[in-house]
Amino acid sequence: MDQKADIKTLYYEELEALIKKCGLPAFRAGQIFRWFHNNLARDFDDLKNVGKETIGILKENAALYPLTIVRVLESKLDGTKKFAFALHDGNIIESVFMRYKHGNSVCISSQAGCRMGCRFCASTVNGLARNLTASEMLEQVYEIGRITGERISNVVIMGSGEPLDNYDNTIRFIRLISDSEGYNMSRRNITLSTCGLVPQIKKLADEDLPVTLAISLHAPNDELRKKTMPIAQKYSVADIRDACVYYFEKTGRRVTFEYSVIKDLNDGRETIDELARYLLPLHCHLNLISVNPIKERNYARVGDFSLAGIKKTLENKGINVTIRRRLGSDIDSSCGQLRLETMSEIKTQGKEGLS
Ligand code: SF4
Repeated sequence: MDQKADIKTLYYEELEALIKKCGLPAFRAGQIFRWFHNNLARDFDDLKNVGKETIGILKENAALYPLTIVRVLESKLDGTKKFAFALHDGNIIESVFMRYKHGNSVCISSQAGCRMGCRFCASTVNGLARNLTASEMLEQVYEIGRITGERISNVVIMGSGEPLDNYDNTIRFIRLISDSEGYNMSRRNITLSTCGLVPQIKKLADEDLPVTLAISLHAPNDELRKKTMPIAQKYSVADIRDACVYYFEKTGRRVTFEYSVIKDLNDGRETIDELARYLLPLHCHLNLISVNPIKERNYARVGDFSLAGIKKTLENKGINVTIRRRLGSDIDSSCGQLRLETMSEIKTQGKEGLS
C-alpha cells in the first residue's frame, strides 16, 4: 500500500484530523464520513455536495481500496448469494449474503486464508495470505448492500480467517460499522466467531462492544479437539470455558457454541453426553451444523435424522440447541471453498476467463 491514508478505515476523529491537516474546514469530515459509511459512496467522485476542489485534495491525500467482483453464485432455492471478491493486490476473499425473516445477513472474511489449520475447513488449505484491513471488511458489507440494493442488518464474522488473529482491524471494523454517524449497525447484530484464542477473547470482553461471541468448539475434550483443531494444542477447552464465563460477566451476552458434527468422529453418544456436561454450566446456545465435506479432507456428514437425534439428546440434558439451517444448499460449499476454486481457476484461465 502507498502512504496515502486508507480513508474508510479512519474513525470520525481521525478523519477530522486528516481533513484539518489538508487545510479543509472541519465540517467536511462529517459530510465525508456520512458519504462513505451511510450513503455507501464507492469512489471520491460519488461525493456529490463537497465540491471538486475538496475531492481533488482528498484524492491527493487519501486512498480507497474497492473490491472487484470476480464471481457470484446464487441459490435458486432461497436467494443466498456467494461472492468471490478480488482485493486491490489480487488476493481473493469470499462473502455470503443470506436472507432471514429477521433481516439480511452477510458473512464476511477477516483474513485472506487462515493459519489456524482446522482440518474440516477449506480456508486454511493454503495457509494465511494476509490480514484484511477494516475497510476491506466494511467493503464486503457495503458492496453487497450496493449490489442487492438492500439494507444489511446483521454481520457474522465467520468467513475465511480467524478474526481474533487480526484483532485490531476486526475491532476497528466493528466500531466503524456500528458508528451512529455511519452505517449504524447494532452491535447486538454482529457475531464474531473464533476457534478459541483465549487471551483475545478476554481482551474483547474488556472492549465494551457487546457483540455476540461464537466459539467453534467441535469437540468437548482436548484429546478429540486436537484431532481437528491445532489451536487445541495451545488452549484447552477448560481455558475456553473460563474465557466464555468472563465474556458473559463483562458483556451480559450469552455465548454461542458451534459444533460441526462429523460422522464417526464427534457424534458418538459418550461424546455428546460429555458435550452436554461441558456446556450446561455456561447458559449458552449451541448451533449444530452438519460438516461440509471438502475434497482436501476426508470427513463425512451425518444425516438429518442423526442431527435431530443429537439435538434431542442435548435438549433433554437442558442445553439450548438449534440445528443451523443450511441456506443456499444448492450452492453449498465449505467455508473457503469458493475462494480456493476461484484462485485455482484464475491461475489456469486468467482472470478474464471468469464471470
Ligand atoms: S474454521 Fe475458522 S479458524 Fe479454523 S481454519 Fe477455518 S477460518 Fe481458520
